[in-house]
Amino acid sequence: MRKLYFPLLLSACLITSPLLAQTLQRTLLHCGNLFAGTGNDLQPQMTVVVEGNKITAIQKGYTTPAGTDRVVDLKNKTVLPGLIDMHVHLETETRRGGAGDRFTQNVPDVTFQAAKYAKTTLLAGFTTVRDLGGSGINVALRNAVNRGIADGPRIMTVGKSIATTGGHADPTNGYRRDLMGDPGPLEGVINGPDEARKAVRQRYKEGSDLIKITATGGVLSNAKDGQGPQFTDEELKAIVETARDYGFAVAAHAHGAEGIKRAIRAGVQTIEHGTFMDDEAIELFKKHGTYYVPTIIAGKTVADSARMFGYYPALVTPKALAVGPKIQATFARAYKAGVKIAFGTDAGVYIHGYNAKEFEYMVEAGMPPVEAIRSALMTNAKLLGMDTQIGSIEPGKFADIIAVDDNPIQNIRTLQWVRFVMKDGRQYK
Ligand SMILES: [Zn+2]
Repeated sequence: MRKLYFPLLLSACLITSPLLAQTLQRTLLHCGNLFAGTGNDLQPQMTVVVEGNKITAIQKGYTTPAGTDRVVDLKNKTVLPGLIDMHVHLETETRRGGAGDRFTQNVPDVTFQAAKYAKTTLLAGFTTVRDLGGSGINVALRNAVNRGIADGPRIMTVGKSIATTGGHADPTNGYRRDLMGDPGPLEGVINGPDEARKAVRQRYKEGSDLIKITATGGVLSNAKDGQGPQFTDEELKAIVETARDYGFAVAAHAHGAEGIKRAIRAGVQTIEHGTFMDDEAIELFKKHGTYYVPTIIAGKTVADSARMFGYYPALVTPKALAVGPKIQATFARAYKAGVKIAFGTDAGVYIHGYNAKEFEYMVEAGMPPVEAIRSALMTNAKLLGMDTQIGSIEPGKFADIIAVDDNPIQNIRTLQWVRFVMKDGRQYK
């Protein structure tokens, strides 16, 4: 008997392996108010059904159907889709004198801090982010999150930004001459269309999800110019065309008007910061359907930091003071003129986890709260090509769900204190 029994048991185990046999856990969220992100309204007393990592149903009232494993009581909360930030830098975080970190930090140092910042971001209610530039550790971080090794938001990353020699994101700006070397496409520094193509292909090889270029000078690079154009039309064309071959969108950091216009004409998907856009640039945004990612909070933070003695290197301080305070007014003007807005903050340039402060600044500048919130939901989901998976609470989508105390349409600041976070069906907060 024993002899027979054992193989039978073994084969039974093989057929119903523990993974296959496991029924999906069913969790119910009883929501005092639900902002599903598909319209502008809040629905009172709703139940969201989550099975495994997906939303499977939305029901009126507080239901508890048979086969429920767990009920989460959010009856005194407003429940929303997980937020999406189109512009973060998960590898680093601003601090006084931090410009010297690149000479003292080893890869593992950056890796540990990146893992921490990713978790902080997730717990702040941002369940998906676009990492717009680091050293490439952000690619490993994305993979670790996807494998469940690290806690963080879903990450779409550019890996390393693409710059021109001496431009914003040339990694050796401000170095001593003998340390400067001559970084090339491998390090994301290009001169001419051929190198531009090679740099895009190198990002593909390294596992980037999209491309970021620094179309003009920038505030935090150790270089004098904060806004002049830094790519030729030919270089931009080569980047956008090559990116298209690999299904990459292109995000362009740009402060000055000329660089903004060149990037839009070349066909980039988003302009980041956009500080000195003029009327012609605004018309080009609208003509090409280009999205503007304002990063108001980053502008305000660099201006505040620059007023503290010794916070930034000498070349950076005047740029931070000139550029920072202007972004909110630019946003107000662009929004009023009908430029399409995507939510993004430049986290890392300010302390990670305060991403939702951006909503307050957007509303302060004249955007209705519901529009500001939606810019961080379906607008961003569409730009990421993930609108069938994230950006709203609908059956079939990933269970990326957050909850806050107040009605955010009446009190936008409530988004800064997220009380409940679920990503991919797992509750983190
Ligand atoms: Zn940035």
